[in-house]
Amino acid sequence: MNSINMRTRFAPSPTGEPHVGNIRTAVFAWLFARNNNGSFIIRVEDTDQARSVEGATDSILQSLSWLGVDWDEGPDKGGEYGPYIQSERQKQGIYSKAVETLIDSNQAYYCSCSTERLDKLRKTQIKSSKPPGYDGHCRTKNINQLPAELKSQVVRFAMPKSGVTEVSDTIRGTIKFENALIDDFVILKSDGFPTYHLANVVDDHAMKISHVIRAEEWLPSLPRHINLYNALGFDPPIFAHVPIILAPDRTKLSKRHGATSIKEFRSKGYLASAMLNFLCLLGWSLDDKTEIFTVKELIEFFSIERVSKSSAIFDNKKLEWMNGHYIREFEQSKLIGNLKKYWTDFPVSTFDIEPTTSKLEAVVPLIKDRIKTLEEAAPMINFLFSETLSYDPEMLIQKKMDYKSTLYALNEVLPVINEINPFNANNIEDNLRLLADKLSIKPGQLFGTLRIAATGQRVSPPLFESLEIIGKDKTVESISLAVQKLNSHGDIN
Ligand code: GLU
Ligand code: ZN
Repeated sequence: MNSINMRTRFAPSPTGEPHVGNIRTAVFAWLFARNNNGSFIIRVEDTDQARSVEGATDSILQSLSWLGVDWDEGPDKGGEYGPYIQSERQKQGIYSKAVETLIDSNQAYYCSCSTERLDKLRKTQIKSSKPPGYDGHCRTKNINQLPAELKSQVVRFAMPKSGVTEVSDTIRGTIKFENALIDDFVILKSDGFPTYHLANVVDDHAMKISHVIRAEEWLPSLPRHINLYNALGFDPPIFAHVPIILAPDRTKLSKRHGATSIKEFRSKGYLASAMLNFLCLLGWSLDDKTEIFTVKELIEFFSIERVSKSSAIFDNKKLEWMNGHYIREFEQSKLIGNLKKYWTDFPVSTFDIEPTTSKLEAVVPLIKDRIKTLEEAAPMINFLFSETLSYDPEMLIQKKMDYKSTLYALNEVLPVINEINPFNANNIEDNLRLLADKLSIKPGQLFGTLRIAATGQRVSPPLFESLEIIGKDKTVESISLAVQKLNSHGDIN
């Protein structure tokens, strides 16, 4: 195929925050388009009005943009084959025209069966262990001749009653479907909206989609779609059904396994680049070993033939590892930029002071090897950006120390700190070790107390480097405050 004409699409239904599985499928379609110099199109499938959620389309577009996935045509930017939202296309009569063509050629028919009849039918089928499905009751009635008000409800597609529908799927090879097992499905609903099947086929044709890359769960729809293409006289696109994503327990990835939407992962401090890299490996691989890919490499190396048939396992531990890797490999300025953006999008309630670039430049090197997500940064460096350190004075008292010995040590530290010049990590360490020795306490005990006094945190970046960043004045001030806290605490005891 001439690569100029390659067109893939992502056709989400706007039913809520997009699931990572759907986004992974979009990423595959996008990579395929970019790898082939083709076009990537977004089409919103909102014909199921009851399931459509306000704002969902924006969430989908935002999730893709955040990952760095771009599109050539779509609801927000238009294009030659618009509109790109099915409810708008419906208003233009695009689907009813197709329905008319099918009715006129006797390949579709009105069905006026009541819900009661259909319910009863389903029950009898279940009782006699037959597959549930429409029995073709209205197929032979010449209902098209009935007066308009009696032409109730829905239009069904007249599936061929025998034979086999054969499709070649790029990932799965030739697939055969027994036509007799597929019922006459609805193509136009009573609310005037087309069903997914009809709208999907009509639009993929109208939008000149050459390759449909979608999730495995749509395989059962495939014979329906192929027969619709044939009935409408359209050439079907090339299909590739990508594997489903499962949780490690091999059940469908859902809320009970943790985050499932891109937005949730974003809020937990995952990086777009790590997330994109990780998603690409859910069903695709270049070889047995390469795990880290730049976007450029992904576009260059991606091929649909290397997408696996078997389900992909979503391993949170691997994602965490990968995110940590990206954080460690980031250039300092890029990591700082990402942190700032992250805190703007998801503000940290314990920060009273806006993190300045200069403070971040000093502290980020101390934490970048210790965090796996951006979320883990704030609790480590909170002391630099909060006005007051709030901690329980008990925390100052280390193992095998008591109130008195702690107070004594803190009072001894003050003049030592004051004398350290220049106030840098090496000098601080040397002086504090000497002091511990002099006080006959373990260095760990002294440092533990100081860590609480200076940061209010049990976990912080390395102590001496942290004190250097805090600066001498502020360190002295915090230690004096710790002494006060301990004093008033002692009063109560
Ligand atoms: N609207 C369908 C979905 O939500 C599209 C399926 C397809 O790509 O054909 O996934
Ligand atoms: Zn009927």
